[in-house]
Amino acid sequence: MAGVLDGKALATRMQADLAQQVKMLQEQAGRPPGLAVLMVGDNPASAAYVRGKERACAKVGIASFGKHFPTETTQAELEQVIQELNQDEQVDGILVQLPLPDHLDSVALLNQIDPDKDVDGLHPMNLGRLVRGEPGLQSCTPAGVMRLLQEYEINLRGKQAVMVGRSILVGKPLSLMLLAADATVTIAHSRTPDLAAMTRTADVLVTAIGRTELITPEMVKPGAIVVDVGINRIEDETGKARLVGDVQFEAVKEIASWITPVPGGIGPMTVTMLLHNTVWSYCQRLNIAP
Ligand code: NDP
Repeated sequence: MAGVLDGKALATRMQADLAQQVKMLQEQAGRPPGLAVLMVGDNPASAAYVRGKERACAKVGIASFGKHFPTETTQAELEQVIQELNQDEQVDGILVQLPLPDHLDSVALLNQIDPDKDVDGLHPMNLGRLVRGEPGLQSCTPAGVMRLLQEYEINLRGKQAVMVGRSILVGKPLSLMLLAADATVTIAHSRTPDLAAMTRTADVLVTAIGRTELITPEMVKPGAIVVDVGINRIEDETGKARLVGDVQFEAVKEIASWITPVPGGIGPMTVTMLLHNTVWSYCQRLNIAP
């Protein structure tokens, strides 16, 4: 029976540490770190994520400058807002909540963010730094996965890692981080012909797919470490909405050595790494040791 990689517990501990650190930094620098979250439209899932991020900021003492715009906001208007936030001394982190309405070009907008305030780590400059192994702001979900594995002292060196999913948000940056930790990394995706044959080779199996419980126990090597990034909303028998991952948690738990739950695994780590990145960016910008 696998041990559970408890992201929620680690996130709680890290947020308590960050709250203390922010208190000290504020005394030193005279202002709290600041995070601006831009949301466009009224996608309910995005609104819930934004509320979660703002609550987490408040908990650790980060000032949040939430900006909520109507769906019809234009690209030029948003670019103007980003330029202003880039110049704003109170703002250390800027995040554009995705997805954006169809008429907006999210890549062009993300590219407008000052790379030193890019707390989502999605600017080409920060992705380039990741490729080169240079310090920089790293994408929150992949960084959260790595931090959780580190907490449980899981050594990745020489292990066969299979990353299912190749998005710019999760799969690609996480593959690079696994590689930097000396794992041998294979990336699988929707065009991989025999996914099960591939996943069965994994000492470390990471899924960022977005398909409800696609990964069955037959697809998992006994003793594997399984990290489930997926978040899928389903309705249970009573019609109540609940969240499940990409992995059949209960069945796979029987054969894996470690496994992350959904919820309570990578989700809370993602928010925590956003707070961490905001504090890191603040320290870099004010030239103080984190
Ligand atoms: P994307 O939709 O951008 O990427 C999904 C990836 O999965 C793609 O590379 C796709 O392949 C691949 N894929 C889809 N279907 C299959 C399949 N049947 N077999 C193999 N590969 C498949 O999603 P994201 O990367 O943004 O997110 C992935 C999941 O992680 C989602 O459930 C999302 O909600 C969750 N998530 C969770 C976060 C957290 O905090 N825990 C944060 C961010 C995301 P292809 O490229 O060929 O299309």
